[in-house]
Amino acid sequence: TLSGKRALVTGSTSGIGLAVARAMAEEGAEVVLSGFGDEALIASLCEEMGARHVAADLMSQEGCEALMDQAGPVDILVNNAGMQHVSPVDEFPVDKWHAIIALNLTAVFHTTRLAVPAMKEKGWGRIINTASAHSKTASPFKSAYNASKHGIDGFTKTVALELAQTGVTANCISPGYVWTPLIEGQIPDTMAARDLTRDEVINDVLLAKQPTKKFVQPAEIGALAVFLCREEAGNVTGANWSIDGGWTAE
Ligand code: NAD
Repeated sequence: TLSGKRALVTGSTSGIGLAVARAMAEEGAEVVLSGFGDEALIASLCEEMGARHVAADLMSQEGCEALMDQAGPVDILVNNAGMQHVSPVDEFPVDKWHAIIALNLTAVFHTTRLAVPAMKEKGWGRIINTASAHSKTASPFKSAYNASKHGIDGFTKTVALELAQTGVTANCISPGYVWTPLIEGQIPDTMAARDLTRDEVINDVLLAKQPTKKFVQPAEIGALAVFLCREEAGNVTGANWSIDGGWTAE
């Protein structure tokens, strides 16, 4: 059980972060939600989980500091907010590069450096970073995303080593394609753009990388995150856990 633990999950108004927040709440953690979205939706999520929501834009140092200030000391920090942009490197919009590095990588540095002192003082903490299969391997046209996610892998290992004797662990979870509303919404457009059926889009485009030919479910990531918070996972640190249907085994 995670009762008595405060868990902050960034990007938890949607997709993977929402599933992780739900899994933590089910284990009894006091959850702090973060991310953007419809006010009524956020209010209903807070009620469902007995959670608080802190609105902050993690693109800036000030936003990260405001989030950590309003969240208060946390026992579990899940750095999950992230974004993607797809473009050849020689055409990659410079502002998109900076935005992706700011949210996917630099924000993780800020929240981590601000969360660590209280964790060290308690002698217990869990830092879980949502990386990606793209923290271990690459696909074309995702230079900023792949750089940010490879960066998360290195950052997490460094933090794990620095905190190895403090009771605080730091790990990455690296999903392949996850069935989120975001992915689901792309299917009709891809069908039209490529003149494919729904099944062809799913199997020949999206799942081409995943040997299981199945999407990862957000709840499966929630379960893995909960495991990493257990006492039995105290010696799991500096790891980068794939949950990608075999993608990175190839
Ligand atoms: P999503 O778009 O469904 O959710 C993103 C969340 O981040 C939302 O809550 C959103 O409000 C929040 N967010 C966006 N910009 C923000 C900002 N500037 N400040 C604060 N919050 C912000 O995405 P998802 O598919 O659930 O992805 C979550 C994480 O998982 C990301 O880091 C992503 O790179 C990673 N990931 C996703 C997949 C996938 O297939 N969906 C695969 C591998 C890794």
